[in-house]
Amino acid sequence: LVEIRRVRKSFGAHQVLRDISLDAPEGTVTVLLGPSGSGKSTLLRCINHLETIDGGRIMVDGELIGYRQTGHTTHEMTPRQIARQRRGIGMVFQRFNLFPHMTALENVTEAPTGVAGVPAAAAKARGLDLLDRVGLADFARHYPAQLSGGQQQRVAIARALAMSPKLMLFDEPTSALDPELVGDVLDVMRELARDGMTMIVVTHEIGFARGVADQVVFMDGGVVVESGDAAAVIDAPRRQRTRNFLESVR
Ligand code: ATP
Ligand code: MG
Repeated sequence: LVEIRRVRKSFGAHQVLRDISLDAPEGTVTVLLGPSGSGKSTLLRCINHLETIDGGRIMVDGELIGYRQTGHTTHEMTPRQIARQRRGIGMVFQRFNLFPHMTALENVTEAPTGVAGVPAAAAKARGLDLLDRVGLADFARHYPAQLSGGQQQRVAIARALAMSPKLMLFDEPTSALDPELVGDVLDVMRELARDGMTMIVVTHEIGFARGVADQVVFMDGGVVVESGDAAAVIDAPRRQRTRNFLESVR
């Protein structure tokens, strides 16, 4: 579903992604591991074109992300085209960026009614379904400030799912949570994976990676140092850099 080929990205003179290639087949979970500054968030942001890229290409479901090619020249898409592409890709960040003045349900229905033109009643019914799916059926009328961090993050997941994305990107979705709240969020993600959602997840939760990931990709310094199935990379890493990193997060 996702095909990343030779992607490069610099901020000024700092080359953050050097030559990244990876595939995320439909219905699989890819976990991205790597030390701080290795380029994980930047790569995720490139996948829904929150960042432009300097070279290479990213395809999602057969579509080039962010750019149009006419003959030999490549142009960035119009904001409207970019917005349309983004709607097919859900993203959940470390900080639960819910709208504080909206209830949980309103947060979930905002994009379907506002952007996609879904009638309010249908959006509400589906929103309640999604809140139920993340274990928050009883919290639809709560405002973000009345929810725990873990509950807010589950609302954020429901909100991303409301646009029926074909791909979900997670950037350290549990790292801002109190330890006792992490499990509920990971359980929701596990269930999503079981239901066949294609997911790319940046996380330091090694247990989640081992249990859920079809593929683990270890990045450092803007390159993929090693990748493969979860058990191989986590339990029998070939590279010293990977071993050092795993020791530091265990
Ligand atoms: P962390 O584990 O800390 O979240 P990361 O692997 O997600 O790290 P990135 O956030 O992708 O790393 O950042 C990679 C490098 O790019 C860092 O050195 C960062 O300072 C730099 N960087 C990221 N975004 C920008 C930006 N908008 N402008 C300038 N430099 C940036
Ligand atoms: Mg990051």
